[in-house]
Order: sequence, then C-alpha cells, then structure tokens
Amino acid sequence: MPETDSVMRAMTNDGAFRIVAARTTDTARAVIDAQKLSGDIARDMADLLTAAVLYRETMAPSLRVQCIVRFEGGAGQLIADSHPDGWSRGLLQSPTGDAPDMRHDRATLEMMRTLPSSDLHRGIVEVPEGGNLSEAFMRYMQLSEQIISMISLGSAVEDANPAVGGFVVQLLPEASEAEAALETMTKRLESFREIRERLQGSDASPTRLIEQIFEGMPFTWLHSSDIRFGCHCSQLRVMTALTMLDRSEIQELVDEGDPLSIGCDYCGASYAVEIAQLQGLLSAS
Ligand SMILES: [Zn+2]
Repeated sequence: MPETDSVMRAMTNDGAFRIVAARTTDTARAVIDAQKLSGDIARDMADLLTAAVLYRETMAPSLRVQCIVRFEGGAGQLIADSHPDGWSRGLLQSPTGDAPDMRHDRATLEMMRTLPSSDLHRGIVEVPEGGNLSEAFMRYMQLSEQIISMISLGSAVEDANPAVGGFVVQLLPEASEAEAALETMTKRLESFREIRERLQGSDASPTRLIEQIFEGMPFTWLHSSDIRFGCHCSQLRVMTALTMLDRSEIQELVDEGDPLSIGCDYCGASYAVEIAQLQGLLSAS
C-alpha cells in the first residue's frame, strides 16, 4: 500500500526513549503549491511544517501550534500551523517579494502553542548559522522545554521522488542509567543526522524510520495519527474579520458598490462578500 502522511510513535521497553516520527510529503507539497514556492525556501517550508507537526505531537497533541521563522531586518517570515484535528498549513510572508534565505540571513525560530485558556506558551531561539532548522528545533526543546531530544528533519520536494519527514527522539525523565543510554543513542543517531536520502528510499515511511532507529532494541508501538493539508478559513471567519472594521470603512465599501472578493493567504481559497452582506453588518452594528 502506498504511504500516506501520518505520525507514528514508539517507546523503548526499557523506558529510556520515546520517538515520534512523521511523514509529511503530501502535506508539504500541498503547502508549497498553495504558496508557489521553489528552491531552498520550498525545502525550508517543508522542514518547518514537519517541525510544527512533530512539536505538536510531542508536546501538545490536543493544542494548536504555530512555528515561525522570522528573518532579521524585516526580510519576512515563514509560518507553519498544525492543528489537533491533523491538518496543517503554511505561509511565506516576504514584503520585498524576494524569498529570504536561512543560509545567509539571520533568523529566529519561534514555537508557540495556544493553551485552553487562550494564553500562548512560546519560546524563541536563534537559528544557528547556516540555517539548520533541526538544530534550532533541538535548541528550543532544550532551552524552552528542558527536554533532551535528538531531532532530524529532511525534505526532498522538487525531486522526481519527493519525500518529507522527520523524527524526535526524546530521553524520558524517568530513564534509569540515563547517561549511558543517551550516549548509545547519540552515537546511533550520528547516521540519522541527514535523513533525506533515507526518506526517499522508504517513501518517508515513519514506521520504517522508527524500525531503523530502534533496530535491535525492544520497543513498543504507541498510537498513530493522520496528517493532511488543510485550513480553517471560512465565510464566517471572513465576515467576523469584517466586523472588526470601522463603520465608516464598511460604509465606504458599500458606497463603492462592488462585491468584495477576499482570498485566504494560506490556502488560496476565495470568498465573495455581497453588498447586501456589508449592509447587514452596518445595520447590525
Ligand atoms: Zn484558507
């Protein structure tokens, strides 16, 4: 059966490590299509999307998360959202029209999740020189979450054989002989730093990735979940946004006399707002 985008989890039977691995090939390609990206920025978007999925699945499966790479000097930002229902989306904002480049431009990585109280839990780290997002994500986990983890993200998006995915291996706090276990795992993961070709060889199967990483170690599969491209824009959200405008601004739109067409920057969906609906807003407010 062909692989579909999903997240798999497993734990070593000695209780030392948990792994969360994701295949995000189709989701990433849909985001790249919707954002019309190519080259390095397309790969960066794919990696950031995988990071958002892994972050949510590792830290907050039931919460909405957002990850932002913000380029210094107003050069723009890359945004990836991951939702508990399994959908994800992404956005490139570049005020100049030129795609920013993590390999050259200084950037920060911000990770945040929306708590049930609507408060935000957030942390910001610098993206290391050279633009390695896996490293930035690890740094975030260590500094902001105090969790020792080993992370690798890999994206081949423009190849004939596309594959996008990644993993988080977490040292569990209750691990006995944690130091020895960590040393063994760190050594083993040396050959999993660069996983792009490995992903291409297995259609980015998260099952295969976990079997390779935990090879020879007794482990137990935990639950899996599906991932897909999606967006939560809707006519209702568009109308709600319009209610934030001043009365005079709405009146101006009514006077202009043309129905509005409002597009979603994330997914490209377009929403029509008729004059009668705008008039409805005026009489409601
Ligand atoms: Zn949308």
